[in-house]
Amino acid sequence: MRAGKIIAYIAGSILVLFGVLLVLGSTGDQGSVGWIVFGIIIGVVGLVMIFLASRTSSKPADKNVTLNIDLPGNVNMDTLSCQACGGPLKPEDITMVAGAPVVTCPWCHTTYQLTEEPKW
Ligand SMILES: [Zn+2]
Repeated sequence: MRAGKIIAYIAGSILVLFGVLLVLGSTGDQGSVGWIVFGIIIGVVGLVMIFLASRTSSKPADKNVTLNIDLPGNVNMDTLSCQACGGPLKPEDITMVAGAPVVTCPWCHTTYQLTEEPKW
């Protein structure tokens, strides 16, 4: 999906560039009115491609937010337990506070920051 978006951006930019060049070139010695029409069509197609690519980016962005919340739990969510009482924790018990995963235990109501060794 991401690669497709980048390709759409690049292809769109190239089309817009070609469209502008064709319109500019139409004023040259070998140019013709047909170049202007063709250039405008190509430019519009390119703009539409960029527009669509930027529009579809809003959906994966939403996905990234939920993905970030899931990330701290991707080690082993099923076996994650409370540090204080050892009670089993669900993904819903983890909230993102200031970019850090915070666990709110439903059993002993302890709130603490979920600390995990960074992978890097
Ligand atoms: Zn607990």
